[in-house]
Amino acid sequence: MRTLLAILALLVTLGGPAAAQRAGDLPWWNDRVFYEIFVRSFYDSDGDGVGDLRGIIEKLDYLNDGDPSTATDLGVTGIWLMPVNPSPSYHGYDVTDYYGVNPEYGTADDFRELVAEAHRRGIAVIVDLVINHTSSQHPWFQSALADGPASPYYDYYVWADAPAGGGWHERNGRYYYGYFWSEMPDLNYNNPDVTAAMYDIAAFWLTEMGVDGFRLDAAKYLIETRGKIENSDETLAWLAAFNAHVHAVKPGALTVGEVWAPTSVVARYVPDSLDLAFEFNLAEGFVAAAGGGSAVQIKVPLGRALRSYPPGQFAPFLTNHDQNRAASVLRGDVDKAKVAAALLLTAPGVPFLYYGEEVGMQGMKPDPRIRTPMPWTGSAPGLGFTAGAPWAEPYAGYETANVAAQDGDPDSLLNHYRALLRLRSAQPALRRGDTLYVEADVRSVYSVLRFTDDEALLVVVNLSGAPVTDYTLKLENGPLAGAPAVSLVWGAGEVIAPTVNAAGGFDAYRPLAALVPHGSYVVRLAR
Ligand code: CA
Repeated sequence: MRTLLAILALLVTLGGPAAAQRAGDLPWWNDRVFYEIFVRSFYDSDGDGVGDLRGIIEKLDYLNDGDPSTATDLGVTGIWLMPVNPSPSYHGYDVTDYYGVNPEYGTADDFRELVAEAHRRGIAVIVDLVINHTSSQHPWFQSALADGPASPYYDYYVWADAPAGGGWHERNGRYYYGYFWSEMPDLNYNNPDVTAAMYDIAAFWLTEMGVDGFRLDAAKYLIETRGKIENSDETLAWLAAFNAHVHAVKPGALTVGEVWAPTSVVARYVPDSLDLAFEFNLAEGFVAAAGGGSAVQIKVPLGRALRSYPPGQFAPFLTNHDQNRAASVLRGDVDKAKVAAALLLTAPGVPFLYYGEEVGMQGMKPDPRIRTPMPWTGSAPGLGFTAGAPWAEPYAGYETANVAAQDGDPDSLLNHYRALLRLRSAQPALRRGDTLYVEADVRSVYSVLRFTDDEALLVVVNLSGAPVTDYTLKLENGPLAGAPAVSLVWGAGEVIAPTVNAAGGFDAYRPLAALVPHGSYVVRLAR
């Protein structure tokens, strides 16, 4: 499989886009849409104001009830849990016990029950694995501080006699490296004992706790060499070996990495060092275009993504827990949020949603304000998240951006997300299909062709707040033939068939006479 992907990647490089995106036999994760959950903020089962694992169990039916015949659930098929380990920080990204479950969140048994209940509904579970650094309160670091070089854990960290640039912190006359923060000392992966320890931790979560994979935090920062802090060859090599270990322990397990960098850098990690990586450039393009921008803001990063990764092996999203929420960037405009959702959920790759995005939950930095409690209702201060006092105040906009207000409204953002997830689930071409960018002669019209051997779906989105009538689409070379029968599988209107050219594409094609403001459409072209 990996060799096949590598060959396909080479073909992508050599053959150009038309020759390239042969999907082949994609992994299971290409049929999934993941949902990122900050456990502290999702649902509080016991009224202490802090979200917990049992709370997630109670809300699993909201995410996916496991019954394909119902349309009342969101329909996601994977969840990514932000760190569940014990940590002194509210966010959990500084771990004190990699084998433990944060007691504020629940117990190991709660975790196992969550995994079992998720699996019963067809939801895969991946967890954040914070591998770059530990908490300064981790027993390893405490031992290193207390005993110095005599500690068996001293060489688990990176020490120097004097600071050598940024990221160095003094303690007891010695300096240690902690890229992000003094209380997040970097682990020393030049020490094979550290690598062995992390291998054991990964195996524990895969086998004892039953997870389906990991989201690898800060993956580009693992090994600093010769002044190279990010993306060192040693980091890529370490991850390649770690990835092989994960697959050896649990065949089919997924690693998705946070490599916050341009596509050309991220692509170096996939598929050997990581199975998938988040596509930050494409995410920025989606949000910018949905904000009233131009289709070229997607064309450029999408083209790079299609050329740079093995087919489908990247993870598009809108924003994550480190970024201002999409709904805030879009200034609370529901129509623009619907456009962003349509762009994301018709895209190639493995889409990730951030909790609350589906109801237009807002949030602007600082970080705790982009991670506030899920607005289940519009009733402040608990928002249906807790019966007690919530750990954080609600963010503005919850009066309309909440589940209860939108649940029964067919025009709501929530039901738009539900329908888009069902569309993606019903259409293999959206999940696994190849992708060709379709040129529009109007900057506010975005279009791609998603296709398999069996079907072709033309995605058309009006990024603007005005109706568009005077537009045409052009696909120089494509997979079409003859006179395809056309039907609309998403959106409303009367759809017109293209005249297919000798190269399987089309020119001067206007599939609908008018695109409504912020309208999204998916046209099925029979092959
Ligand atoms: Ca609780």
